Amino acid sequence: MVEYQKRRLIPDREEDLTDSKTFAQFGRSGTGISPLRVVASLGCDAFNPFQSKTAHAVVQSTALYMYLLVLPERMRFQKKNMLLLAVLPGEPKQHLINNILNRVVNLLLPLEEGLHYLQTAKYPFGRNVSLVVVPIVCDSLGAHQLVGFPSPTHTLFCTRCLLPKSDISNLDRTSWPRRDPEQHRIRATEWRDAATQKIRNDIYKKYGVRWSELLRLPGFDPIAFTVIDDLHMCLLGLIETHIRDIWGIDEDAEGGLGQTKARKDYQKPPNSLNLSVDLSSRKVIGRDVLEAAWADMMRTIHPSWISPAPVHWGLARTGKLGGNEWKIVGTIHLVVTLIRIWGYGEAGERRRRMLLNFVDLVKATHILLLRVTTPKLREEYDFWILKYLRGVQELFPDVGFTPNHHYSMHMSEFLESMGPGHSRSTPVFEQTNHVLQMIKKNRHAGKFNS
Ligand SMILES: [Zn+2]
Repeated sequence: MVEYQKRRLIPDREEDLTDSKTFAQFGRSGTGISPLRVVASLGCDAFNPFQSKTAHAVVQSTALYMYLLVLPERMRFQKKNMLLLAVLPGEPKQHLINNILNRVVNLLLPLEEGLHYLQTAKYPFGRNVSLVVVPIVCDSLGAHQLVGFPSPTHTLFCTRCLLPKSDISNLDRTSWPRRDPEQHRIRATEWRDAATQKIRNDIYKKYGVRWSELLRLPGFDPIAFTVIDDLHMCLLGLIETHIRDIWGIDEDAEGGLGQTKARKDYQKPPNSLNLSVDLSSRKVIGRDVLEAAWADMMRTIHPSWISPAPVHWGLARTGKLGGNEWKIVGTIHLVVTLIRIWGYGEAGERRRRMLLNFVDLVKATHILLLRVTTPKLREEYDFWILKYLRGVQELFPDVGFTPNHHYSMHMSEFLESMGPGHSRSTPVFEQTNHVLQMIKKNRHAGKFNS
């Protein structure tokens, strides 16, 4: 067992989850014969096993992973050091993932209580070792499946607070009622022990809680340990949503001013975002903007570690962009082009305001995805994300916020308790999912060949 690197800690500066106060509480091991406390992270991610590149793939599998935070970061995310716990066909509905979690928790329980190794390479007279699962890293749907939180469509959609969805545009954090871990455990246990399905449904509806087998782990705090992954939330939930849904892209028309008229006969498409109007008429990123952005991309010299977005991003035939490609489009290509074409001259006041609003999001993204976090940086993140969200409300009053907009205001809490996102993020899951995608299959979802 390799212990975490004992780097010299700088007060109020965290470069890794192992610098965070949560790790200090659960993972710090003393010297000599004191017990080794291993901290592990559990995560889940859905992927299309058939490698389809189109958006909204119908066929999905869900993989469950674990990795050890006590390993140095350069080793932590190597595939050989990660544990693939399970691959499930489809996305497990509601609490059915508990059938798998039950077995995982049975394995974890004796480890959390602690084992005694009679001899190790460094400790010839043996050492006590315990393992505790601290962060559950996933998107909001994964939190719903793994920890028993409600789905993002539930009235109580947030894992940190009990703000009702009807008040999702409330940006005053001090007014949000917080979830309590003890209450969560009590309600979840009531749900588990309920005599009828109706009682379970009533508990879920009223308190937004289901039973999760992870609650059998004595040290598990469902509220503090459930981390919304910053990459899913920020790159897809904020940047992609802003460009594709709030602004809108239309390769066949000139870019507009982003103003729509609500249609009385509008029927919201199924599975669409929580947007209250038909945005098909709102096309800020038109052919003129796309062509300007593509031309600027050709003239831009990127650092060697930056992979530019696909040449004709924004076209339907180019296909779905990944989170990292939206990051490059949003924080590099569009910033370069929109400052050039909207920032000066006759672009007009509204376009300039839309540009400044988008730059607020880019600044917040930059701080959120830094490899280091400090109290000052978290304060700045809160300032820019709040300014961005207020700007969206002013510029696009007909757009309702999505859960991701709300989650974005909780992200500084995760930075404070769990350190910077790179030390607990999920890109490594996607790499492993890619390996799983490449395995030959019978192309019959959920069926084994006999
Ligand atoms: Zn919340």
